[in-house]
Amino acid sequence: MDRIVILDTTMRDGEQAPGATMNLEDKVQIGRQLERLGIDVIEAGFPANSPQEVEAVAAVAKEIKRSKVAGLTRPVLSDIDACWEAVHHAENPRIHVFISTSDLHLERMLRKTREEVLEMSVKGVAHAKKYTDDVEFSPMDATRTDPVYLYQLLTAVIDAGATTINIADTVGYAIPDEFARFLTGIRENVPNVDKAVMSVHCHNDLGLAVANSLAAIKAGARQIEVCVNGLGERAGNASLEEVVMAISTRRDLLGAYHGLDTTQIYRTSRMVSDVTGMLIQANKAIVGANAFRHESGIHQDGVIKERTTYEIMDPKSIGLTSSVLHIGKTSGRAGFRSHLKDMGYDMTDQDFSKAWESFREVVSKKKYITDRDIEAIVAEELRSVDETYRLDEVHVTCGEPGIPTASVKIVDSEGREFIESAVGNGPVDAVYNAISKVIPVSNTLEEFTIKSITDSTESLGEVTIRIESNGQTFTGRGASTDIIVASARAYLNAINRLVSMQGLDSKGPVK
Ligand SMILES: [Zn+2]
Repeated sequence: MDRIVILDTTMRDGEQAPGATMNLEDKVQIGRQLERLGIDVIEAGFPANSPQEVEAVAAVAKEIKRSKVAGLTRPVLSDIDACWEAVHHAENPRIHVFISTSDLHLERMLRKTREEVLEMSVKGVAHAKKYTDDVEFSPMDATRTDPVYLYQLLTAVIDAGATTINIADTVGYAIPDEFARFLTGIRENVPNVDKAVMSVHCHNDLGLAVANSLAAIKAGARQIEVCVNGLGERAGNASLEEVVMAISTRRDLLGAYHGLDTTQIYRTSRMVSDVTGMLIQANKAIVGANAFRHESGIHQDGVIKERTTYEIMDPKSIGLTSSVLHIGKTSGRAGFRSHLKDMGYDMTDQDFSKAWESFREVVSKKKYITDRDIEAIVAEELRSVDETYRLDEVHVTCGEPGIPTASVKIVDSEGREFIESAVGNGPVDAVYNAISKVIPVSNTLEEFTIKSITDSTESLGEVTIRIESNGQTFTGRGASTDIIVASARAYLNAINRLVSMQGLDSKGPVK
């Protein structure tokens, strides 16, 4: 049995999903959780993108001890230098060099010949090799590349020192059996292929990313690149949880295993969803809310008598527990903090204090607290962003007949208070209008989702919103037993993200 190396690229490819932008604190938090999950290689970003990205990747690299930490780079010498500057802090750094190899990309995008791309690739890998032994090379759009050219290129980069060759189905074009044949072609026609680990990077444009990854394992791939919750460009990447649980569940057929602690999967999935504001569909495999729910009477009867009648995986194996917490009204700060630690949340004192206040507030209104409630509470704190604006008070009157009216008090980071009121089509609209009067940033609301966390009317309401401003998308989250308050918090959360990325278009609030 061979061990499959899992490379997680949630913080690089996953971050390229619209609205999933992560700041430095987000990345460190997710990096720690990925290490807890036992990920072999954490791809933390694309350092040459910006000085902030160098800083964020470096911060992850400093934090991670066991997993390898990779940075992505074009085969441009200065980009490789920037990549090394960021990843060299890691115990086990990796440089990941990529370049397009399909004629379509070469002719229409790079405007380079095959020879030029081959030369750049070899030079890039050789330059990276001066820094570290661990160099990965990816031919981008490999599945639409002329195989004969690909064989030549791969032979050359392995000679130059690449230790992993990553066959990227960048546009999600491959079909499983065809992809397996493509990889077999590489194994048969690249003479030095045994000197490198064969990896695959599959996209989900046809919903086949996981299927292609599994076909690749059968064809000899020993590294699979994945993203938590299947995040990523367009339809996303192969989903970490699906690939990993497929390997666990069907190792009989795949003849391979992985080194992950799968009981951390659920927590990792929640954390990434909370940090990015990207919701998980209820019927998502493994981590969706319905993934282990049985509705039909026959199925329920079966599962009660013998779980395996309708469950191929034990929900406990992904860390799913429905346990109601022992923590409640009488629990102290220390107890709450250690529970958060058990759940995988390492928080700064300041964030913890805020989480503690929110927790006390929820405990006073709700009888039973579950881990899921706690996740919703800390989600706001986790989406750590400079809090330029904080919601101090919100009041709403609405009903039938009547004009929904809201007043808000918002405090800015310098302690200045702003009070505004507005009317709207409904209470949430009125609140948003009042907040917009205080904070003059132009934006349009693209999405508004409200969800109850558990199944009762005293449940926490969790609001996720997505706003657009100057072509950039920002997500915001808020949770409260009062959905109007949750909506206001979610909106401010998104506005704070927007302001920290784009700055204000005037010198602060108008009034
Ligand atoms: Zn990709």
